[in-house]
Amino acid sequence: MLPFVYEALPSRVVFGAGSLQKLPEEIDRLGATRALVLCTPEQRAMGADIVMMLGPRSAGVFDGAVMHVPVEVAAAARDKAQRLRADCCVAIGGGSTTGLAKAIALTSKLPILAIPTTYAGSEMTPIWGLTEGGVKKTGRDVLVLPKTVIYDPVLTISLPVALSVTSGINAMAHCVEALYARDANPIISLIAQEGIRALVGGLPKIVKRPEDLDARSRALYGAWLGGVSLGAVGMALHHKLCHTLGGTFNLPHAETHTVVLPHAVAYNTSAAPAAMAQVAQAMGGISAAQALYDLAASLGAPLSLRALGMRREQLDQAAELAVQNPYYNPAPVTRQGICKLLDNAFEGRRPA
Ligand code: NAD
Repeated sequence: MLPFVYEALPSRVVFGAGSLQKLPEEIDRLGATRALVLCTPEQRAMGADIVMMLGPRSAGVFDGAVMHVPVEVAAAARDKAQRLRADCCVAIGGGSTTGLAKAIALTSKLPILAIPTTYAGSEMTPIWGLTEGGVKKTGRDVLVLPKTVIYDPVLTISLPVALSVTSGINAMAHCVEALYARDANPIISLIAQEGIRALVGGLPKIVKRPEDLDARSRALYGAWLGGVSLGAVGMALHHKLCHTLGGTFNLPHAETHTVVLPHAVAYNTSAAPAAMAQVAQAMGGISAAQALYDLAASLGAPLSLRALGMRREQLDQAAELAVQNPYYNPAPVTRQGICKLLDNAFEGRRPA
């Protein structure tokens, strides 16, 4: 057995249909009395429900969360938290809303209670991101790790099917890269494989019947495990490529992960055979890359970067950016290899 280091992250998880009802007591448990509720403009109604439910425990709401946490939005939310004398943040929504809560926590140390409504997994990580002038900076700080996370699958029923699928595959990407991480360890590998199984089981049922609460629970459980994997070990080529494509070409987050994953896995297959066998086994397939591609296809997900609005003439710049700063990856990252990967992802070819 290889030596390893394992470090557990401190967070409390309350999981289950109807667990949102525990929100007031969970706020009390944090010792907080004035929660600033955060949401996106699209989830304003959910934010208002939370404010109602909290009554005097709510200091107010900031409903301006947007993708990638622009510094201007972070500044406005920090301002509001200070003006309202909030002593904690309740983030209800996906990675964009959790990301905004993290930006507030980074400068104010306010504790975060997160209520995830997508499968992005940000709520389980100490990773923050802020975007200034089109450039996204990320960092790690345990200050931004939510203290409490309430996973209520009922809240995910309204997540549109297409976003449920791509967000679920985004969670699978965290699990897959955790299995071949430089700092992989046996506990996170078990968690990652269980995460893949849960998502592979839940997503097809959600496509058939979006209100299937059992399937929603399975997928959210898988998303939690994906978030744990992402928060615990370092990611590699797949996450780096998606970060570059999303940031530079403004491609949508979950969809980009969905298109790139089979190709990043194909790229790493021969360099990480044990991890790929674990992915394939968890998916009930023989080839991890093909199983991931076939799953996305069967769920009606986008399969090509072209379909996401990327243009062929942008591929060269993407390849250049992807090889610029060295980072860990099981297979060596070469310009020629990345060009081929991007070409396959652009055309949406099934991995060989
Ligand atoms: P998102 O948070 O941007 O949500 C997408 C849209 O779906 C929004 O309009 C949102 O209001 C809506 N939505 C969310 N849940 C809904 C529901 N249940 N019903 C109806 N509508 C709903 O998307 P995301 O994919 O969750 O997050 C992406 C962002 O999170 C990116 O900026 C990414 O970089 C970041 N992220 C960060 C980490 C981290 O560890 N820091 C991890 C994963 C993702």
